[in-house]
Amino acid sequence: MIIAIDGPAGSGKTTVARLLAEKLKIFYLDTGATYRALTYAALERKVDADDPQALGDLARSLKFTVEGSRVYLDQEDISQQIRHPRIDKAISKIVSYSQVRQVIVELQRKLTQGRDAVVEGRDITTVVFPDSKYKFYLDADPQVRAERRAKELQEKGVNINFDEVKQDLEKRDYSDKNRSVGALKKSQESILIDTTGLTIEQSVEKVADYIIPRG
Ligand code: C5P
Repeated sequence: MIIAIDGPAGSGKTTVARLLAEKLKIFYLDTGATYRALTYAALERKVDADDPQALGDLARSLKFTVEGSRVYLDQEDISQQIRHPRIDKAISKIVSYSQVRQVIVELQRKLTQGRDAVVEGRDITTVVFPDSKYKFYLDADPQVRAERRAKELQEKGVNINFDEVKQDLEKRDYSDKNRSVGALKKSQESILIDTTGLTIEQSVEKVADYIIPRG
């Protein structure tokens, strides 16, 4: 059984997906982390962001491991590094290429093979697992999403001002929704959950209500 969750940055989907997987005692996959790991590797190895072929080859050559919210590239724990704003700034172009997405989508399917899982990202309900049993689209007011992202960075000790966070988020939203492959959109069957006025716990409960019938 796959529970697929899509939504924009700051919609709460990462935390909701993680807590839901904990509650259901099943595997959790943050697909954004796989694209972030690739972007980190491309920056470190100075692979040209305008060369889809080279990026596709890089994606094929990398050994990722994902354990909950920890991500390893070869043996290195890069969980912190991939959340840095320099990754946010570089990622949109890199993930827009079909040569890259094909490789990473295959990796995501392999990571969840034979498992019950909560999988979250941008194209999970539309491309990666269109036949999943449960499909959700999480969204929230853009101002609230930017505030959540700023708080998250602040807690990690990253020094960046709110306007910059908001601008980065708007740019990523635009490019996520408008790329030609794997664009972010709500699939027809997805259940829309607006998390604007909800706490994390309330958001998890809302999603869980569709999966675990209340006794
Ligand atoms: O979810 P998160 O914000 O960590 O994702 C980082 C970036 O990775 C997104 O802005 C998006 O461009 C890309 N992404 C994607 N497809 C996914 C998950 C993430 O293109 N399934």
